[in-house]
Amino acid sequence: MTKRLVAHHIAGLPHPGQSGRFADIRDPATGLVTGHIPLADQPEVDAAVAAAAAAFAGWSQTPAARRARILLRFRELLEAAREPLALAITAEHGKVLADAQGEISRGIDALEFACGIPHLLSGRHSDNVGGDIDNWNLRQPLGVVAGVTPFNFPVMVPMWMFPLALACGNTFVLKPSEVTPGATLLLAQLLTEAGLPPGVFNVVQGDAVTVDALLAHPDVRALSFVGSTPVAQKLYTAGTAAGKRVQALGGAKNHLVVMPDADLNQAVDALMGAAYGSAGERCMAVSVAVAVGEVGDALVAALAPRVQALRIGDGRDPGVEMGPLVSHAHRSRVEAAVSAGVAAGARLLVDGRGLQLAQSPDGFFMGGCLFDQVQVSHALYQQEIFGPVLCVLRVPDLSAAIELINRHPFGNGAACFTRSAATARHFSRAVQAGMIGINVPIPVPMAWHSFGGWKSSLFGDHHVLGEEGVRFYTRYKSVMQRWPGAVGGGADFLLPV
Ligand code: NAD
Repeated sequence: MTKRLVAHHIAGLPHPGQSGRFADIRDPATGLVTGHIPLADQPEVDAAVAAAAAAFAGWSQTPAARRARILLRFRELLEAAREPLALAITAEHGKVLADAQGEISRGIDALEFACGIPHLLSGRHSDNVGGDIDNWNLRQPLGVVAGVTPFNFPVMVPMWMFPLALACGNTFVLKPSEVTPGATLLLAQLLTEAGLPPGVFNVVQGDAVTVDALLAHPDVRALSFVGSTPVAQKLYTAGTAAGKRVQALGGAKNHLVVMPDADLNQAVDALMGAAYGSAGERCMAVSVAVAVGEVGDALVAALAPRVQALRIGDGRDPGVEMGPLVSHAHRSRVEAAVSAGVAAGARLLVDGRGLQLAQSPDGFFMGGCLFDQVQVSHALYQQEIFGPVLCVLRVPDLSAAIELINRHPFGNGAACFTRSAATARHFSRAVQAGMIGINVPIPVPMAWHSFGGWKSSLFGDHHVLGEEGVRFYTRYKSVMQRWPGAVGGGADFLLPV
């Protein structure tokens, strides 16, 4: 197999890189190296930021409706390229093809939201606030904006960022995950094909060194980050200290509460998809099931055989429910977390460690794991594992379930399965998390409702997308205007009232 180079994309052209540093790209289902990427150092970052800075004047002056038209053309191209894009995602991430298609759809949702930018940017106007003066506001773009994204959604997460940032009139430098860069680069090529002027959208491939160079660059005005909490916190602290606007979305430990009055079959189905879909490598994956009252025994009895029977294999094969983990190193970390859980005394009901598939012996596969009797003190519960591992905790009542969630350092999503409106309402209002599901296990909001967590799941003031996203990617300006010949006149030495 010829190994491809997934290059940088600077000023509308592929750029092979000059750092001499490279990383392998592997197919997680086979374990084979399928390509490599250059890892950018300061010179490539400087080139990308310079291209974006040079493009800013023209792009920010382009009327919003024309910017939206280019994005609409990009949307058509994206629809036509769904299949190669989904294949590219699965070939580097491992998730099943239908799930890769799902992430493209959610990316398109975000793009469609951004295409409404003429309306989203329209301001408020107050007529004749005094002395023939009118007052109105406008929102202006920031300049060069950077995005740094994680491995698990190589299409959707970048599309939470760049369509809206571009629609608002900014230019963009994206640093995708070095583990899954291929599909993201395809997006850059489609944007160029759609007629986006050179330099408006650039991609630098790279690692932490590349991100640090972006972070230190004085022309990068704002940074959107999605990834693990320690990196989110680091980027938020360093970026804001350097005067940049930063939104940094971090890790998660999402709880799903099963009340005694819940539809148990519905809850079990929900837990299966939310805990083991995409091998648990989703920031909205459910990794904790909180069984309230007497429901625990029935819940684990229903879950265990389903976890045992998960259809695991190459995500490109029909009928597969769960693909491999993203890398050998990540699988080792997940398996070590499971072993530590066993050593700490949690009951491992289904053990997915050590799975080897005859047809893909070198793939990074692991079976689903199910723990019961997990305690709050266990690292298994406290830390994000980001693998196909579900922990069941038991609590006596709803208050204890809510207290459990609220004490956890993460606060991305939380769900409650119940038939009671009073329980649902109380849960929605009392839980400290950014996204709540009532009988919905993965409550990812629609693009116009914004996406983001609380506590250690998000650093910064703005969620992504929706009105929050428009605010993040623009600066507010107020204009007061009076024309010659207006009423009044003469020097006024008092504060205007
Ligand atoms: P990661 O934090 O390791 O990497 C994310 C990005 O940061 C990558 O582009 C990487 O190159 C870069 N990076 C890594 N270490 C860095 C460092 N020390 N300094 C600067 N940059 C660095 O995350 P990942 O493993 O790619 O993705 C999984 C994580 O992302 C999980 O924690 C998951 O919960 C989180 N995630 C969160 C959301 C959300 O919306 N909150 C969505 C998707 C993923």
